[in-house]
Amino acid sequence: MDIKTLANRGVLGLHPYQPGKPVEELERELGIQDIVKLASNENPLGLSPLAKTAIEAATAELTRYPDANGFYLKQKLAERWQVTAEQVTLGNGSNEVLEILFRTFVSPDSEVIFDKHAFIVYALLTQSVGATAVPVASKAWGHDLEGMLARVNDKTRLICIANPNNPTGTYLQPEAIEAFLAKVPSNVLVVLDEAYYEYVKPEQRGETHQWLNRYPNLIISRTFSKAYGLAGLRVGYALTSADIADLLNRVREPFNCNSLALAAATAVLDDTQYLEAGIALNQKEMARLESYFKERALPYIPSVGNFITVEVGDANAIYQALLHQGVIVRPIAGYGMPNHLRVSIGTEAENTRFMAAMDVVLAQR
Ligand SMILES: *Cc1c(COP(=O)(O)O)cnc(C)c1O
Repeated sequence: MDIKTLANRGVLGLHPYQPGKPVEELERELGIQDIVKLASNENPLGLSPLAKTAIEAATAELTRYPDANGFYLKQKLAERWQVTAEQVTLGNGSNEVLEILFRTFVSPDSEVIFDKHAFIVYALLTQSVGATAVPVASKAWGHDLEGMLARVNDKTRLICIANPNNPTGTYLQPEAIEAFLAKVPSNVLVVLDEAYYEYVKPEQRGETHQWLNRYPNLIISRTFSKAYGLAGLRVGYALTSADIADLLNRVREPFNCNSLALAAATAVLDDTQYLEAGIALNQKEMARLESYFKERALPYIPSVGNFITVEVGDANAIYQALLHQGVIVRPIAGYGMPNHLRVSIGTEAENTRFMAAMDVVLAQR
C-alpha cells in the first residue's frame, strides 16, 4: 500500500523546507574561507553578553525539565508590554506560536487570508491543517487591507498580517491597522506578526499591545530571533486576550521552550545597549545598501526591517553567482518574486563584502 494515502489532508501539498547547506560545508566545497551569510535576517552583532552569561548559568540545571510555564519570562514580558502574564503564550520561536494558533483555531473547512507575498509560514500552516488559503494581491508590494476585508466571508477564521512584512520589508502605519481591525468581524481572528517590531522607528511603531482590550480577536506575535539575536535558541511569544492564551496553552506542548532559551530571553530583555546598537547599525547599513542599489540602478523595495529586497533580473542566477563569491543571500521565488533577492543587513564589513561581490557578478552579466 502507498503510505502517502494515509497522510492527513493537505500534507501531500506541502514541500519540505529547503535548508541551505551548513556554511562550513559550503566553504569546503567552494574552497572559500570566510563566507558571509546574509540570508536569514539574523542579528549580525553576535550574542548579547547578558544572554551569554544567563545561558552559562542555566547549564547547571540542564538535567531538569524547563519551567513549563516560563514564569520569569512571561512576567517580564507582561511588565514590558503592560499586559498580564496570563495574556502571554511562549513558543519555540514565533513560528511555533503561529503553529499553535493554527492548530487551535483553523480547521479544514475554514479559510485563511494573507498577502500574496507574505511570510511563507502562513501558507504552509494553512496547507498543513487542510484549510483553504485566500491569497490577496499586494499593493506596491505591501498588504492591501481593503482587499483583505473584501475577501472575508462566513468561512474566514484567520487573517495574517506581517508588519513589517517579510520578504518585502513593507510597513503599514498603526492607524491603518487599527482602522482595519475596527472593520473586521469579531469572529475573525487577526494575527499581527511583528517579528521585526524593534527595527521600526519608535515614532512609527504602534503600541499594538494596547489594542488587546479593544479587539479580543487580535493576536500579536513577536520574537527573540531577530533584533534580540537569539534565532538559534528558538523563542517567540504571542500577546492576546487571556481567553485566547488559555486555549493556546491547552494545545501547546508543555516544555516547548527550553531552559537556555528561557534564561537567555529573560536576560536579553534587559540588554538595552545590545538592542540599540543593533538597531543603529541596521539603520546606518540599510542606508549604505540603499545608496549602493541606487548607484547601480537596481530597484529596491524600501524596507523598515533588517533586510532589503532588490530586483536583479534572473535572481537565481545572481544568487548562484554571489554564492561563488562567498556571499549567501536569499532567493525568494517561493514568495512569487523570482526577480528579487532578499539581503539581510549585516555588519559593515559583511555588507562591504556583499557589495563587492555584487559588483563582480554584475560585471559578469
Ligand atoms: C523571522 C520571522 C518570524 C519568526 O521567526 P521565529 O524565529 O520562529 O521566531 C516570524 N514572522 C516573520 C514575518 C519572520 O520574518
